[in-house]
Amino acid sequence: LDPNALNFSGGPGALPAVVLAATQQAIHAVPEVGLSILGISHRSDWFAELLATTERDIRTLLNLPDSYAVLFLQGGATLQFSMIPMLLLRGSGRVAEYLRTGYWSAKSIPPAQLEGAVRVLWDGEASGFRRLPTADELHYAPDAAYLHYVSNETVEGVQFHQCVGRDEVRRICDMSSDFLSRPFDPERFDLVYAHAQKNLGPAGVTLVVIRRSLLDQVPPDLPEILDYRAHLRAHSIYNTPPVLAIYVVAQVVRWLLEDIGGLAAMDALNQRKAATLYRVIDQYPDVYEGWAAPEHRSLMNVVFRLATAEQEAAFLQHAAAAGCSGLRGHRALGGIRASIYNGLPLASVERLAEVMEAFAGG
Ligand code: PMP
Repeated sequence: LDPNALNFSGGPGALPAVVLAATQQAIHAVPEVGLSILGISHRSDWFAELLATTERDIRTLLNLPDSYAVLFLQGGATLQFSMIPMLLLRGSGRVAEYLRTGYWSAKSIPPAQLEGAVRVLWDGEASGFRRLPTADELHYAPDAAYLHYVSNETVEGVQFHQCVGRDEVRRICDMSSDFLSRPFDPERFDLVYAHAQKNLGPAGVTLVVIRRSLLDQVPPDLPEILDYRAHLRAHSIYNTPPVLAIYVVAQVVRWLLEDIGGLAAMDALNQRKAATLYRVIDQYPDVYEGWAAPEHRSLMNVVFRLATAEQEAAFLQHAAAAGCSGLRGHRALGGIRASIYNGLPLASVERLAEVMEAFAGG
């Protein structure tokens, strides 16, 4: 396995080998253009066509109806923490409901509080963000401006395995770390966003899937660059977009469609990958302790601890000697995190499972 195949980084994360090869070639010269991707104008017909094709492929993968727009934005998922309440909360006189289920959903709340009233519907901090709310713990207001949640908490490795909220209230989801890793019904959401640097490509581009009717009423005082309508009108070329990042996303969605065979097939593979690691964790409870409650375990970020900091350091050293990188847990939580995004092959995960077994048994 080449070093990229054993890269368990939390993000930017590993990308498929075929995508890296195509990108390497494009840096020299995009085959159909004959110029480096780094020097092609975003105003070229070729780039407009690339954006259109990529959008079409994403629509195919999600089975997305025309009542939704797909936007390629910048500013990362973090900018969405502000753009969403600017659109839907500012001046609404209503309350936005947020689930606080981990590091990233906690970060999404203060920007919303600048725009209006926020109710934290559920807070998992007291339980260490190790589990997600059960249905009977969620008492939704009938007239909230929207419900916001994070489908996969990248730091703690907890993931919703079904949609939450009520269909009567706008449902907004940060899918940054599990977008296109499994199928979902887009029509149950009003806005979904995901930065690219987990499952889709490099950092620099953020995808937003938005129900067009949300744009019927936009507060009047938004700077244009923070107004989704400006990006929609400009076909995601409002200002210079990250051409290279979008090129990589284009290759990744092509790979998902043609090599993997769509999101159901991707999900099946991701289930196998995650089960391979959780099985080892469960097999050696004296050595490894999984962070997430079993029913909320993430298929993307497998987070676990060892008994002491010394043992964790020894584990990281053992794994590094076997060629595995990116396993140190997020600085906010510590421990170990194996991120196993779409681009990481099953064989890589099987290799890490062997490394974990050897460490535990040896
Ligand atoms: N949401 C989630 C779920 C994330 O994992 C991250 C970053 N890893 C962010 C938001 C912030 O994203 P960005 O750095 O692109 O702003």
